Amino acid sequence: MTGKHKPATVAVHAGRKPFEHFGAVNPPVYHVSTILYPDVETMEQRGTKPFEGMTYGRFGTPTSFALEEAVCALEGGHRSIAVPSGLAALTLVLESFLKHGDHVLVSDSIYQPTRRYCDGHLKQNGVETAYYDPLIGSGIADLIRPNTKLVFVEAPGSLTFEIQDIPAIAEAAHKKGVLVAMDNTWATPLFFKPFEKGVDLSVQAATKYIVGHADAMMGLVTCANSDLWQTVKAHAAAHGLGVGAEEAYLALRGLRTLPLRLERHQETAILLATWLKRRPEVLRVLHPALQDDPGHKLWRRDFTGSCGLFAFVLKDAGKPQVDAFLNGLELFGLGYSWGGFESLAIPADPGIKRTVTTWNPGGPTIRLHAGLEDADDLIADLDQALGRI
Ligand SMILES: *Cc1c(COP(=O)(O)O)cnc(C)c1O
Repeated sequence: MTGKHKPATVAVHAGRKPFEHFGAVNPPVYHVSTILYPDVETMEQRGTKPFEGMTYGRFGTPTSFALEEAVCALEGGHRSIAVPSGLAALTLVLESFLKHGDHVLVSDSIYQPTRRYCDGHLKQNGVETAYYDPLIGSGIADLIRPNTKLVFVEAPGSLTFEIQDIPAIAEAAHKKGVLVAMDNTWATPLFFKPFEKGVDLSVQAATKYIVGHADAMMGLVTCANSDLWQTVKAHAAAHGLGVGAEEAYLALRGLRTLPLRLERHQETAILLATWLKRRPEVLRVLHPALQDDPGHKLWRRDFTGSCGLFAFVLKDAGKPQVDAFLNGLELFGLGYSWGGFESLAIPADPGIKRTVTTWNPGGPTIRLHAGLEDADDLIADLDQALGRI
């Protein structure tokens, strides 16, 4: 399922093997810990069919293998590894390639729990994290030290929406033998092809758009080549990071409709963003697909679409106005997530932490997730909630 087919076709077909499952369209949910073999010989040669890859539930089941295959086909990598959450995928990548005495470069716009892991767990284990300006581009070369092992990128940042020049960063990193890992959750594998842009390890918080229905947690690490995959797989196995078959099934089911859902999330988010831009209460809209966004040029060059997640900045407002707006929303739920079918809103400022750059957009920032509701209804909801400020 690679190469000649378009993403929507890959999303429908990848990882499905109906004739290995009595013709069932979807790979069934294998509730299994123990695998039984008919004799010692088969036990010793479990690499062959029908026991291919089946040793013990923790190492994966046909359901999780199908999910890994499908996500890998969309990301365009060598092979993927499913783990219990997006954060588990992020920490697995960091932990697999960093040891005592190493140095890692991380974007200052990084997802907050990733920063917490670097400042806590990595630091305690003798790994030094240096944050860098997300807009640094090829300037990253000046920050690479002899002990730098990894550059971590995320574009756009999921609260501030700055786009990074990933090909420039990757080129500079590779010149010095440094790996590039990316949190590719915002674009999904449909709207940013990490391996074509120089990324070595791509992480999906599948909990968001791939699951797509706010009903399961899942993370995937996709690797550019076999050596990287062997390393990450060995670390995942060492930590016992197996995934539940029900969760793998839900992620796979979500994936089948990802292209269709994402088109709608994209369209509605742009409608809402454009509407918000014209409102007198709004100072700025942070959405890289808008023409006057500072990241728009790079986004156009490297991305093929945008999702439902963006933010806007209120003019002349403080916490009481932000709270009045958020409390006034009827269709947007207040919740720390995104990627499901439903619209969500949060105050973004409490989650924004910077250490080497300043973030001052001129007012309080509110993050919205445009769900699959009717766009006119969502706009009417924003309209009445803005009226409460
Ligand atoms: C939610 C999220 C994650 C973590 O995913 P979980 O499945 O919640 O652990 C990672 N990166 C980004 C950008 C996210 O929004």
